[in-house]
Parts: sequence; C-alpha cells; structure tokens
Amino acid sequence: MSSEIAVVGGGIAGLNVALRLLRAGHRVTLFEKQRGPIDKVCGEGLLPFGVRQMHGLGLLEAVREIGTPFHGIEYRLGSRAVQGDFAAGEVGIGVPRGRLDQLLRAACEAFPEFRRQSGCKASLADLQPFDRFIAADGVHSPLARAFGRRVRMGRRLGVRFRVQAAPPRRVRVAFFDYGEIYVTPIAPDAVSVAMLLDGRRTPRGPRLQPWCTAQFRRAFPECEGALSHFATRGHIVADFHGPRPDFHLVGDALHTFDPISGAGMSAALTAGAACVAHLEDPAAYYRAVAPVIRSVDNFTRVILAFRGGGFRTRLMLNRLGRSPATFNRILALHDGVHQPWHLEWRVALPLLRFW
Ligand SMILES: Cc1cc2nc3c(=O)[nH]c(=O)nc-3n(C[C@H](O)[C@H](O)[C@H](O)COP(=O)(O)OP(=O)(O)OC[C@H]3O[C@@H](n4cnc5c(N)ncnc54)[C@H](O)[C@@H]3O)c2cc1C
Repeated sequence: MSSEIAVVGGGIAGLNVALRLLRAGHRVTLFEKQRGPIDKVCGEGLLPFGVRQMHGLGLLEAVREIGTPFHGIEYRLGSRAVQGDFAAGEVGIGVPRGRLDQLLRAACEAFPEFRRQSGCKASLADLQPFDRFIAADGVHSPLARAFGRRVRMGRRLGVRFRVQAAPPRRVRVAFFDYGEIYVTPIAPDAVSVAMLLDGRRTPRGPRLQPWCTAQFRRAFPECEGALSHFATRGHIVADFHGPRPDFHLVGDALHTFDPISGAGMSAALTAGAACVAHLEDPAAYYRAVAPVIRSVDNFTRVILAFRGGGFRTRLMLNRLGRSPATFNRILALHDGVHQPWHLEWRVALPLLRFW
C-alpha cells in the first residue's frame, strides 16, 4: 500500500532510502537542512558490499562512470607497508561524494512522487502530517536524541582534500602519531585524502591545512600533485546509548562510533534496503540490520585497537605482512563474504574478543 513518507536527511543514507521507497510505490518528502549539492567530508571509498548494493539499485554502471575502482587495502607505517586484496571478482569504487549525491538525487527526481525540501531543518511538528518518517539525519541524529537516545560526541576530527596523483590499485591507509590518513582513487588523475585525527592534538584555524598537508606529504611522498577541496568536520565520532526509538534510523544515525573502517556508506546502503523491506516493523528492521552493523562495528574495534603508530601497529603490520592470505580473509570477513570460522585459529582467537 502506498504511504506518505518523510525522510529526514539528504545524505547518502537518506537519498538511498528515498529512492528505494519511491520504487516501492510510496510518496516521499525528503528534508535536508543544507542547500545545493552536498559534498561531505569523507574518504569516498565504497567497499565491495556497497558496490553490490549499487548493483541492486541498478546504478552500478553510473557509479563506475563517475568513480575509480580499487582492489584492496594497503596499511602503512613509515616505510613498512602490507597489502590485502578483496575476494576474487570483488571490487571497491572511489566516488566523489558530490557526484554520488547528484546521481542519487537525479534518480529520485525522476519520480513525480518525490518532493525535496532543501534548507529545511525538519522538526517533529513538520513530520506530523506523514504516515511515517525515517531518520537519516547523520551521526548526531537530532531526531533519535529527541526520542531519548543519548549520544556521546567524540573528539576525532575529519579532514578531506583531493590531490592530483595517479590512482593506486588499493586504498592506502597510513597510521601515524595523530591518527590515520586514507588515500582513495577517485579519478584517472586524482585521489581523495581523508584524515581521521585526534582533535585535541592537532593545530586549529589557519594552521590546520598546512599541518595536514605536511603530514600527508611525509606519509605519501609519491603523491606530489596539487591540492584542492580542503574541508574539515569536527566530532565525527559518536557513541550511542539507550533504547532505539520506535521508528527507522538509517546511515550514521543508526550506528557509527568511528568511521575508521571506511564502511559507513556501504552500511548505509545496506541498511536502506532492509529499512524498505521492513517498513511496517522497526523491530524487525533492527533485527535484520544487526549482523551488518555488528560486523562493521567489530572491524572498527579491531583497527582502533591496533592504531596509534606505535608498537601495536607495528605488530599488526608484521603479522599481516607475514601472511597476506590472512589479510585477504579478514577483508573478506569485513565484506561479509567470509565468516569468522573461515579464519585459521591463530588469527581467529585474538579477534574473538572483538566479535
Ligand atoms: C573523514 C571521514 C572519512 C570517511 N571515509 C569513508 C569512506 O572512505 N567510506 C565510507 O563508506 N564511509 C566513510 N566515512 C563515513 C561516511 O561519510 C558516513 O558513514 C556517511 O556519510 C553517512 O551518511 P548519512 O547519510 O548517514 O549521514 P550524513 O552524510 O551526515 O547526512 C545526514 C544529513 O542529514 C542532514 N540533517 C541533519 N539533521 C537534519 C534535520 N533536522 N533536518 C534536515 N536535515 C538534517 C544533514 O545536513 C546531512 O546532510 C567517512 C567519514 C569521515 C568523517
């Protein structure tokens, strides 16, 4: 039966769920507080399970056209680097967020039943006339908080810029004293650089950009090209407490406690599909989406435990370096292609405490 549905938040989670609802025959009003195209601070890498969702949406060819493929992940600490590849036939795609936003938005706008209210911060009063509403309002989800969910803000800071450089075959992640640097291929001549930083230890104001550039050049001396699109975002981490409200939360509003695993967009796309499949029953939706969220959160815990650029990071890189097949299996686990019992016991045991 066709319903009148409000979606709050026009990021990737909101647009994805809006498109799926429109295709299921519903009328959708999307509220987005920002005006114009949204080019979010993000590492811009879709993992293979996000690419599979794009395939399911029928948008894979369009995403391929605006993005650049990558085949695995490389972790770096100084001159030490280890590489892992996705399972055979699986590929990730680096996509500039602004263009992904345009693509999803155009797909929604093709439906006459779609209305978008830009520059409109939706309040509960705005949502009264609708049969139901879905909150895709981001990591600090004001709607979830209005219903009693407590959110603890983190001190991590996100930075994003782009650099002219040849695209690498894998997403490169460098660990250093202040956080992590992600380099994702997004075009034949450009990479996206995202930094996740300890906001208490980084310079502020105009000193931040030159500092970030210097850290990036030190970690990736091979990427010498010009920089553009510098943008920052504070409090990128949140920790949720309290019960889930009796309506659908999707995207970062549902679960993020640190974007370190680079799976936020892919998880948002997956949750959107489950949300529409269980539209009448939020509890069934939360049950359906729990395994994906658990897997992303557990992988996040593993990387958080080994980051920092010190002894533990070196230990992790040494272990992964000694067994590239293990690294591949961990990536397949993260991607939902493998289960923990597919790992050798020597790898599975230390991971158990995170799972
Ligand atoms: C530095 C960094 C690097 C990252 N790297 C990656 C990566 O490589 N790969 C990956 O998959 N993920 C990555 N992520 C995570 C990814 O960006 C998020 O998971 C994803 O953007 C979540 O999308 P969303 O739609 O849930 O939230 P958002 O994109 O935050 O969208 C929420 C929207 O809701 C709007 N909104 C909020 N309140 C209201 C209201 N009351 N009314 C109307 N509108 C409202 C906001 O304006 C916003 O546009 C990274 C994140 C950061 C910070």
